[in-house]
Amino acid sequence: MPDDFKNRVRVRLYQLFVEGGQCPTIVELAGDLQCDAASVAAAFKELAAAHVLVLQPGSGEVLMASPLSAVPTPFVVETQAETKSRSWYGNCIWDALGVISMMQCDGRVLTSCGCCGESMMVSVFKGAVEATPAGTVHFAIPARRWWDDIVFN
Ligand SMILES: [Zn+2]
Repeated sequence: MPDDFKNRVRVRLYQLFVEGGQCPTIVELAGDLQCDAASVAAAFKELAAAHVLVLQPGSGEVLMASPLSAVPTPFVVETQAETKSRSWYGNCIWDALGVISMMQCDGRVLTSCGCCGESMMVSVFKGAVEATPAGTVHFAIPARRWWDDIVFN
């Protein structure tokens, strides 16, 4: 498959995700790109093989377009750009903070402590990060092993 088609799929996927607030399906993306769904599905598979996307195992639809999650997760991200407030799901705390960074705005992550379930909020205001209550972002395994099982890790 030509790289330029895969890049078009990738770029348009992110544009539609950010504009619409939810991940486009294979069929929606194919309609937008005026191509057949099988071509988009094939591009998704190649992008997943390259660790650009993570796909849902049954449907082949997008699960993760990092830092965004296409499905609900325990990392709710609220972004505030000018007067527009929006919400997203991050794949993990790392990606949740990445969503705020990608949107280049203030925001907060609503989540819970990984060890005890205590409610936590991490806010980003004018580039400063503050957790309430104060906490530590802990990664159980080194980043080089995340792709051993990216959904579980
Ligand atoms: Zn805890």
